[in-house]
Order: sequence, then C-alpha cells, then structure tokens
Amino acid sequence: MTYKEFIGQIENFDGHYSKDINWSTYFSFPIKPILEAETKLAKNSGKSIAYFSMEYGLAPSIYNSFRLNSPMSDKNKFFKHQVFSNYWISDYVFKINIQKMLDIPIYSGGLGVLAGDTVKSIADLGLSVVALGILWNKGYFKQNFWYKYGQVPEELSWDPHSYPGLIPLKNRIRIKTKQGDLVLRLWKYYVYSYDKKHVVPLVLMDSNLSDNSEHFRKLTDQLYRSDQVSWRIFQRSILGIGGMKAIDELKLQVACYHLNEGHAAFALVEKYVQLADKASMKTERKKFVYTCHTPVAAGHDRFQITDLQDIFTNDYVDAAKKFGQEHSTSKDVNLTYICLDNCRHVNAVAQKHGEIMRLQFPAFAKRIDAITNGVHAHTWVSESFAHLFDKYSRVFGNWRLDPNRLKKACQLIKDNNFRRDIFQAHQDNKRFLLDVVKHWKLQEDVLTICWARRITNYKRPSLLFQHIEEVLNIAGHIGPLQIIIAGKSHPMDTTGASHIQNIMEHVDRLNNSYKTVKVLVLENYDTYFGKLLTNSVDVWLNNPLPPFEASGTSGMKAILNGVLQLSTLDGWVVEAEHDDIGWIFGYRHQGPEIGNEWELRLEEDSKALYASLKDVAALYYRTNKNGVIDIHSPWIDKMINCVCRGGFFNTQRMVQEYKAKMWS
Ligand SMILES: *Cc1c(COP(=O)(O)O)cnc(C)c1O
Repeated sequence: MTYKEFIGQIENFDGHYSKDINWSTYFSFPIKPILEAETKLAKNSGKSIAYFSMEYGLAPSIYNSFRLNSPMSDKNKFFKHQVFSNYWISDYVFKINIQKMLDIPIYSGGLGVLAGDTVKSIADLGLSVVALGILWNKGYFKQNFWYKYGQVPEELSWDPHSYPGLIPLKNRIRIKTKQGDLVLRLWKYYVYSYDKKHVVPLVLMDSNLSDNSEHFRKLTDQLYRSDQVSWRIFQRSILGIGGMKAIDELKLQVACYHLNEGHAAFALVEKYVQLADKASMKTERKKFVYTCHTPVAAGHDRFQITDLQDIFTNDYVDAAKKFGQEHSTSKDVNLTYICLDNCRHVNAVAQKHGEIMRLQFPAFAKRIDAITNGVHAHTWVSESFAHLFDKYSRVFGNWRLDPNRLKKACQLIKDNNFRRDIFQAHQDNKRFLLDVVKHWKLQEDVLTICWARRITNYKRPSLLFQHIEEVLNIAGHIGPLQIIIAGKSHPMDTTGASHIQNIMEHVDRLNNSYKTVKVLVLENYDTYFGKLLTNSVDVWLNNPLPPFEASGTSGMKAILNGVLQLSTLDGWVVEAEHDDIGWIFGYRHQGPEIGNEWELRLEEDSKALYASLKDVAALYYRTNKNGVIDIHSPWIDKMINCVCRGGFFNTQRMVQEYKAKMWS
C-alpha cells in the first residue's frame, strides 16, 4: 500500500487526522511498517492469518503509547479510582489520583489481555496477520463502589474519534438481517512491535452509524451485553460474519482464520453462505483453527434456532443448523460445537485445560491439542527488572528479541550480587506502588499480597476472608499484612457482585485492626493497575476452584517480575508445580469427573490457604527483618525461579507454537 492509498481510505483525514499522520509518522510512530504490513496482507502469499477476538486488551497507557499533536480529550483520560479500605471509616471516598490515558476500552479481562499480548508478539515476530474485533462505543463499564452496597456499574463514555492511534475508514460493510441491513463502519488501530519495526493491523467493526436504526446503533455499545439473547447473537454475528466481510471489503488475502474463542464461530457460517460451490466447504473449512479458553459452562454459547430465525434469513439459519446442531433434533445451535466439529486444529490454553476439554468433549478428544498461554514480556516486565536483565546481559543476552532467554535466570541462583540486585529491583517496584497509594500509608518492609482479576464465582474472590480471625491471628503472631484486592464483576453476574459486597463487609469488620492488617480494595481494575500490582507486590494470590481456571495469566505477569505465587493447583500453575515459584495449596482435581463449579469448597480451601499463608509470612519476615535483607533466604531462590519460568510463560513462545502447529 502506498502512503496516498493509506490516507485515501481514512474518513475525514484532512479535517481531523492530518495533524497526527504524515508521510513519515503515525501518531509519532514510524509509518513505514504500516504500509509494509498492508502490502503483505494484500498479496496472496498463502501465509497471512486472520485472528478474530471479541476483545483486545492492548494496554496503551503502559506500553507503546501513541502521541497526539494536540492535547488529549478529557473523555479519553481516566483518573477516578476510589479505594475502599479499613484505614478510616469514611475513607472510601478518597481517590487515587493518577492522570493516565484511558485504555482503549475494548476488553473486559484476561481473554482480551491475552488477545492483545498475542497480537503484540505476532508483531514482534514480524508475522503477517490481521486482527479483527469490535469497536465498543461504551466500552465494558465503569465500576463505582458504594459503601455497604458493593459495585454499581455505570456506562463508560469515551471518544474514538480523538483516541490516539485509532482511525475511521471510509469503508462500510452490510450484514443482511430480517430486521433490515446492519451497516458497519470499519476502524483501524495498529499494534506495533517492541522495536517499532512491524505492525499488526487491527480492524474494528462499529454499528454506531446514522444509516442504522436506533436499535442497531447500540449493538456495538457494550461488550458482552447480555440482558437479551438477541444482543448476544448480534454481537457474535458482527464479529464472525462482519469479520469475514471486512476481510473481503479490504481485499486482504487470508490463508487461515484463527477463532479466538467460540464467539467468532459465525465466521464459518459466513464462509459457507458465500460459497457458490457448497461442496468446496470440505477444503475451505480446513482453513479454520480454534482456541478454546474456558471449561466453565457459561463460557460456551448456545442459541435457540427460533431466536436465530428472528434475526437471520433462511440461508444463514440453515448454515448455522448444518454446522452447529449437535443432533438433527437439537433445538439449538452450539457455537463451541461449530468450532470443534469443523476447525482443522483445536487447542486448549494450558495442558491441564487440554485434559479437561478432552473429558468435556470426548467425541473430539483426539483432536484437542493444548498450547499453554503466555504474556507479552515487554508489556509486563517492569522498568527496574528490564534494567536488571540488561545489567546481566552476559546471561540474558538480547532478552527483548527473545524473552525465552529469561530461562537463564536459574544460572544466577548462586550469584550473591544478582540475589541482592533482584531483591532491590523488587523493592524499587514496591516503593513505586506504595507511592501511588501513599494516602493509605502502606509500609515497604511489610508483606504485601494481592488478589486482582475479573470477579466471578469460580475464582473465589473472597476466599482469603472466609475466617477473618485467622488472618488477624497470622498478622498478630508472625508479622503484619498488607492486602490489595481489585476486580470488576460483569453487571449481570449477581453472584460476582455479591462477592464484592462480601469483601467490603469483611474489610469493614477490620476497622480497628489497621495496624496489623491493611486492606485496600481498588476500583476499576484495568491494565494499568494490572501492571502496577503484578510488578510490585510480594505475593500474587490466585485461588480459583480447580479445574475451572483454563489458564490464568496475571500470575505470569507477576513471575516476570520476581513476584512469588500463592496459588491453587490449576491452569498454568500445574505446569510450574515443581519449579518452586511459591506455595501451592488446596483442593487438587483428579480423575475423570470435572465436578461442580458452584461447590466452592470455601471451608477446606480457606484453611489450606491460612496454613500456607503462615509459611509465607514466616519466610518473608525471616528474609526481610525491617529492611535488613537475608540474601541467602530461600525466598530469593523462589524469586529467581519465577523469572526463569517467565522464560516459558510468554506469548512469544506461544505464538511460535501457534505458527508451527496451527497456522501452517
Ligand atoms: C492479566 C489481566 C487479567 C487476567 O487475570 P487472570 O488472573 O488471568 O484472571 C484480567 N484483567 C486485567 C486488567 C489484566 O491485566
């Protein structure tokens, strides 16, 4: 693509974008990689991949931030983060004050962050890929804490037209429905590699156009809106059907379609509807591959045929039935089944998840592979750890080019200088965090633990608070504790919301204990806080009910920064069980029964958690005696083992596996 062609496709270039885009730069980044990537995608190389995902967590506030030549609109800034704590009774109104760019609000949690990290590693490796997703005009939602009430969701508003790096195209696509044509505008965002030499174009579809009815305009407002089944069907159609049409509209030559989660399954339906010669579907469907991300039942979409009939014309309904009915008498279409039964390659996201998926779908067991998730090292390694790795470049070499080299950390386990340096690098991170929350007077040499992720039942957000007297007991006898909690729960997930309320009640009961146990519950967890917290606390707590966590990734961000794990045995942690990266506790899943995701085992697992927490605290206070560090402590062995395993749990390695096993 030439520069002229590039700017020619942008809507309102002269009026709005010419300030930030010119023949050499794109929002302050080099424009050349964009033109090269677009040219590659337009050529029939037989190698380009289309990656479909409902959400992308790109974290531009903390990594590869585009710059505007004019001041950023207030709508794209975000600085309201209240904290609920036991510091002071009325203190929940006090806010953390950080000025930062709003994350492009097109993600809800781990699935989106994984998709973002994947696309970044694809760019780092210089592969030819187009990513497809949806421009969520109202994002996911904004979280408000109300005292004694918990989470109150509020609509988020942002301005895509002035968001750095995002551009609207003149192109439109149309999806035929029984309720009239649904018109979609296409946007583009470019995800750069760490060295800014390559990009992955991200195409985002948007129904917020005056051509559409009032109802259609709202379809791309809120990610995972689920109050009526039709929202869910439309949103999945926009991703799958719209995504395939967008590839055609932009004249991209794609050899393989990667469906990240079953949400995108209608892409296969669209492929079939488009085919003039239906018999060729036999070969066409071999171009599809599928990654499944969840063993939880609610994560698998099924739609009643009658609901599909209200929306789709007969050709689509028939195709959806043909590929998605488990039996000829089934009354519904199962998106997971469409993917499992048709895609050439199917993968689970950790080895344990592979085992579980084979139990859940025995008919497909032979075809289910497992490729363990990772995180994008450049996004999640803190500055002080990047300095540390550079200082020891004789061991880590060019770890930026190849994060797998972090595995070499184990060679340094007996090096006293490295042991001292890694602990100091961690303390630097911790001081940075304590400065952000300085109002609450957390202390540097006090054991600090964090639980932060999407709040949902199987993740057991309140496990630590089951027996608050046990927490007080540990803090009183071994040493004080600082606990940080954060996360949003989906607005329709009433159980999730009750966990937040429950946590707040416990925090309230700790009001007279601030000297020994400080608890901070942070509002509006996002990738900014994801990075801050995974970089800086001493221990990362992860306590999902096995075997319902497919992988989990926040712990992987933590280990890259030498943060120890206190975890149940599930997801990726199973693959690090014997690596001495922290403490593993609680119920172990075994055998051919998956079990019940609603039976949380809170009693037995909270006891196991407290038993482990005693060991954690005892070792911490032997290692850090009021700022005097015992550098020979096994704590530091564990920190080094964490970094070493970070050399495996990264998306560079994962994308290399995708390429070798799925895309070729
Ligand atoms: C990494 C991340 C997650 C994923 O956390 P899990 O522990 O894998 O559930 C969710 N939300 C944000 C903002 C993240 O950065």
